[in-house]
Amino acid sequence: MKIIEPHIHMYARVTDDYENMKKAGYTAVIEPAFWSGTDRSCAGGFFDYFTHLLEFEHGRAKKYGLYHYSFLGVNAKESRHTKIALEVLRGIEKFLDNPNCLGIGEIGFDLITPEEEDIFIKHIELAERRKELVIIHSPHTNKREGIERILKILTEKKCTLKRYVLDHNTEETIGLTLGHPEIVAGITLYPTKVNIERAASIIKQYGAGRILINSSADWGKSYPLNVSEAVQAFPALGLNAKEIEKVAFQNAFDFFSQSPKFKLD
Ligand SMILES: [Zn+2]
Repeated sequence: MKIIEPHIHMYARVTDDYENMKKAGYTAVIEPAFWSGTDRSCAGGFFDYFTHLLEFEHGRAKKYGLYHYSFLGVNAKESRHTKIALEVLRGIEKFLDNPNCLGIGEIGFDLITPEEEDIFIKHIELAERRKELVIIHSPHTNKREGIERILKILTEKKCTLKRYVLDHNTEETIGLTLGHPEIVAGITLYPTKVNIERAASIIKQYGAGRILINSSADWGKSYPLNVSEAVQAFPALGLNAKEIEKVAFQNAFDFFSQSPKFKLD
């Protein structure tokens, strides 16, 4: 079965991961910009990172037979550096125009502060003006509160919800997210987040219609083949072939295909 990994940080992974993903049936990887482990000291640090993703990482994936697309923005954690974040927002559009960039992300909340909210809203306004796709990160702590706040902002701003993925949902938030029409809900298979068994029961309860599964693999204790492992494990956990195809490929394909730049042969 073909797989799209809709959220992974290959920047922090080794080439063997690309080889193993290709062998396991992955066709494309989507890489949102993240906190790379230390805060950048200037806007130029972000711009160099964006170039790295759009050029070097895209090329590295291609060498191993995988499509690679990026989402760019100031992550929630670094949004507190308001001056730098605003400078990044002033200079980001030429990177968003790049053919390998599908939209804005991952943005959202870390500690849910007014500074984070201000920069999040500015990204959303930019996304609406440019009709960009958006990947939103929900916080690890106070997740429900963060997701409520994100959904309230998207509703108040009358955002086109079909262009948004609200990521890292758990049992506690998935009903809330999917209660909003057309928005897509991400579930992250990560040791500190949701495991394959829990993901299967969420999908059984809420249906496969608007759910994506991802590994969010990065420099932490994470595993880039989690989506593939879930695909193998899901039949025994009660999901049928159609549901599995939807959460591991089709829903991602449909979502990213809203951008004319997204093409798989
Ligand atoms: Zn991430």
